[in-house]
Amino acid sequence: MRLPAIFFQRPGSPRRPQGARNITPGNITPCGITGLRVLALLIQNARMNLHEYQAKALLRRYRAPTAAGLVADSPGRAEQCARELGGERWVVKAQVHAGGRGKGGGVALCDSLNEVREAAEGLLGRRLATPQTGPEGLPVEQVYVEQASDIDRELYLAALMDRAAECVCFVGSAAGGMDIEEVARVAPEKVARIRVPAAVGVLPYVGRGLCSVFGLKGEAAGQMQELAVDLYRAFVECDASLVEINPLVVTRDGKLLALDAKVALDSNALFRQPELAAQRDPGQEDELERQAAEAGLSYVSLDGSIACMVNGAGLAMATMDLIKLEGGEPANFLDVGGAADAARVAAGFRLILSNPRVRAILVNIFGGIVRCDVIADGILQAVREARVEVPVIARLEGTNAATARAMLGASGLEITAASDLAEAARKAVELAA
Ligand code: GDP
Ligand code: MN
Repeated sequence: MRLPAIFFQRPGSPRRPQGARNITPGNITPCGITGLRVLALLIQNARMNLHEYQAKALLRRYRAPTAAGLVADSPGRAEQCARELGGERWVVKAQVHAGGRGKGGGVALCDSLNEVREAAEGLLGRRLATPQTGPEGLPVEQVYVEQASDIDRELYLAALMDRAAECVCFVGSAAGGMDIEEVARVAPEKVARIRVPAAVGVLPYVGRGLCSVFGLKGEAAGQMQELAVDLYRAFVECDASLVEINPLVVTRDGKLLALDAKVALDSNALFRQPELAAQRDPGQEDELERQAAEAGLSYVSLDGSIACMVNGAGLAMATMDLIKLEGGEPANFLDVGGAADAARVAAGFRLILSNPRVRAILVNIFGGIVRCDVIADGILQAVREARVEVPVIARLEGTNAATARAMLGASGLEITAASDLAEAARKAVELAA
């Protein structure tokens, strides 16, 4: 991923915020890390994840080879699913929006209907923690019961957006399975990338390239050729940002099979994917971030003590960096948007205040489209309603800034006005100490 130049500021850079101290290598790192982390989280948040069973149903529609499977929300139903599927061996898999289930005890191979029921009992209604979730884990409300497959080899295959090349890229490795993250870290040469130029789409060389990466011959090689075309179509037609099959297995009888599937959709395109949008599972999402999305706010929770409410993502990042420069730690990223009104500002305050670590709130609004007096009104409403018990520092600049400052001054509430951004950050750090 190519990053905007702002993340690589050097001393004396013309982009340095006015009033900021010289940025030295010692303090560039913490600033940069905040910006980068938030950027990564924002990109992640612009995705809607599907469950494995939903992803497999989607891929099946595009002819991808999968085993037969059924979803269950109770142990009894899980047993019945296994009976309906037939066979002698099944796999019961927790449906959560996280990988690493195999390592976290979320995937069970079962040799009898009784074992299927027991595995479902052990998973349903609990929370599953994996190396990809926090220690609190994610709630398991459904399990997927599949006929177990006999595996010869586990491969890794994904289609993702290559931002630098502005096209979809296939990523493949013969060392697939549960340790692919480790492989990518210690032996990146084992992970191959094949770009698909948008103007031509998947030509036969793409599938041949993947066959060579995977060492596939015969029937599996023919399947791989088709899979490359089908996955690409699925990716583009569904507005995906990631389609990952890990593992894609070669079975003992030499066939390809998608044993696991992860699909992330670009949430900015959900308006034209109503059928997929309806598959969203809010139970798997972070509660605060979900509330923020509903109020039309961009919110990312961080570990520090100084909350910030800003209009515009760029200004929000600059604000967080200034807090860092002054020796503080931001508690969140919050962009109330260019069209913020009093109701949104109030919703923003409620979000901020539900974080118990917050010791001060820094409001930084540049009134361009939005008028400062409207924002001040929102602040006053929210502070009255929500019983704000921590200091609020407000820097309002732009349209009707003077009126806004007068409103805050006359309110009798404890709101510290600051005339510039550096001063606001300094006061916030002081008051949070
Ligand atoms: P993840 O850990 O969340 O990525 O879950 P996966 O669905 O990828 O399963 C993890 C591991 O369980 C796989 O890498 C396989 O080794 C194993 N596994 C899953 N399904 C089967 C199956 O049908 N047969 C066998 N033998 N192993 C399986
Ligand atoms: Mn997997």
